[in-house]
Amino acid sequence: MLNEFETYGNQKKRGILIVEDNDINREMLKSILEDKYEITEAADGLIGLEKLKEGYRDLSLVLLDVQMPNMNGYEFLEHQRNDELLSSVPVIVTTGSTISEDEEKCLALGASDFVTKPYNPRIIIRRIEAIIRLSESMATLKAVEFDNISGLYTKAAFIHHFQRYMDENKDKKLDMLMINVEGFSYINELYGVAKGEQLLKHIGNVISVCNFGAIMSCRYTTDRFILMRVHSDSDVSKEVVVYNEKIHENSPVSGFVLKFAVYTDVDTSVSAASLCERLSVTMKTVRRRYDMQLAFYSTEMANRAKHLKKMEESMKDALKEKQFSVYYQPKHDAKTGEIAGAEALVRWIHPVHGFLSPADFIPLFEENGFITKLDLYVWNTVCEDIRNWINDGIKPVPVSVNASRRDILSIDTPERLLLPINENDVDIGLLHIEITESASVNDNVILEKVKAVRDMGIKIELDDFGSGQSSLGTIRDIPTDIIKLDISFVRNIEKQKEIVKMIISLAHALGHKTVAEGVETKEQLEILKDFGCDYIQGYYYSKPLERNEFRQYLINNKH
Ligand code: C2E
Ligand code: CA
Ligand code: CA
Repeated sequence: MLNEFETYGNQKKRGILIVEDNDINREMLKSILEDKYEITEAADGLIGLEKLKEGYRDLSLVLLDVQMPNMNGYEFLEHQRNDELLSSVPVIVTTGSTISEDEEKCLALGASDFVTKPYNPRIIIRRIEAIIRLSESMATLKAVEFDNISGLYTKAAFIHHFQRYMDENKDKKLDMLMINVEGFSYINELYGVAKGEQLLKHIGNVISVCNFGAIMSCRYTTDRFILMRVHSDSDVSKEVVVYNEKIHENSPVSGFVLKFAVYTDVDTSVSAASLCERLSVTMKTVRRRYDMQLAFYSTEMANRAKHLKKMEESMKDALKEKQFSVYYQPKHDAKTGEIAGAEALVRWIHPVHGFLSPADFIPLFEENGFITKLDLYVWNTVCEDIRNWINDGIKPVPVSVNASRRDILSIDTPERLLLPINENDVDIGLLHIEITESASVNDNVILEKVKAVRDMGIKIELDDFGSGQSSLGTIRDIPTDIIKLDISFVRNIEKQKEIVKMIISLAHALGHKTVAEGVETKEQLEILKDFGCDYIQGYYYSKPLERNEFRQYLINNKH
């Protein structure tokens, strides 16, 4: 087997720079090494430094004499040390003396090793090989260890060092913090990938400088960072506010939102990787919550799993016993202020747990598949309610029903949807379906089904638009009629005016209407109206109403 240092064929030789003023010594070194290495020579330190600056990329090593005119070995090392690129090339110092002071001084200045004159060719070659091998493996390690964008540890390195730290500091209590840049893909798209990288770099800088007292930190995924520190009793929510400000200060991009997950006094009997995973789970609980910026990991989260299991056991009976009820939240025309539609939102009136909001059970049902049964129930109920309004002489409005990705895949649409429409003799134009952007992109089966439903005359609303990871361009590919701006845009409308305006114009350019949800104030309404948003949903007009209350609302709001 070939030694990795042996050259064969036309493989490029590694370069060595010999900096030595004595011609005979230089010649001697050259003759020992030139078979295996590409040699560059310099007759003093000054020339040597120039050659190093020119050729550091191709140099694997410098052999440096100490006593030289113009610039001696110490000064050479001094200059080299101040330049990160140049100092990545290792130096072996050649000296006539065996004075240990000399050695010490050179090592302190960053030299890797020593050889003494007169030269023993075999020893020189062995030492050179060893140093080059070491420095090359360090360079590889550096690339795996540090993220080249943020300058922080990579995920792998962080988990490694974090684990070691815990192993070596068993008595220490530790805290962890995760930072997530919401909608990072939009930043890339709106401002370009280079700006996106600048933002990540900026965050990396803030983390390294103002580091929350962190012992170590990393870029965990594309747009997520983790910091770890010794446990502190300080008020984390206050610290997070400061952190948030620091990152927004002097940021190359504006209008982005950060979310934080905190795990204090972590369970150090668990592996570093699992601890990071727990933080990710914690982050999930705030990601879709426009009203929350910070979440804490707690044992409650583990208890929650048990609670969910119980809910799962009771859900089928709940459907039979009609514990689910449909609420309606009005949508108004932005220009005229008239009621223009409603969204059907389900609630679970649980005999033990009382009034449950969808956030408490929809994710569970989406996971176990029960959502499909529940959504069909809502669909039937809405058809029945519309029929009842008409029978009572009340003019109906179109009602949108939420459908999850699972529904679209498992319901044998469109026939199944037509059943209650026909049974109740309801105009198909009165029914809309809200699907989320993430449920519809990148999946041809879903796209085909949605298209079939739309061709039937049911209007499609693209829900939570802008909250996902997909791109603005995807609205072109989704069969849709109405774009529903994610509630977080309205929450942050002051900061995100540009984006909101752009999405509305883009939707209009593609022939779609727009709805903004979560509108609570007159100011928000005015801005959205200004931008040409078509419909408004939110507490500004009304909360979701129980079906009888909504019936009355329809009567009160003539349209
Ligand atoms: P979504 O479809 O985005 O529904 C909008 C949510 O925003 C509703 O929460 C609504 O009550 C809330 N909201 C509306 N206006 C305002 C406002 O001005 N301020 C604030 N703070 N909130 C406002 P809700 O009813 O808790 O529903 C949460 C989510 O649960 C829904 O989000 C939807 O994804 C899901 N969901 C609700 N009902 C159903 C259903 O029947 N089927 C399916 N698959 N999912 C449903
Ligand atoms: Ca919805
Ligand atoms: Ca929504």
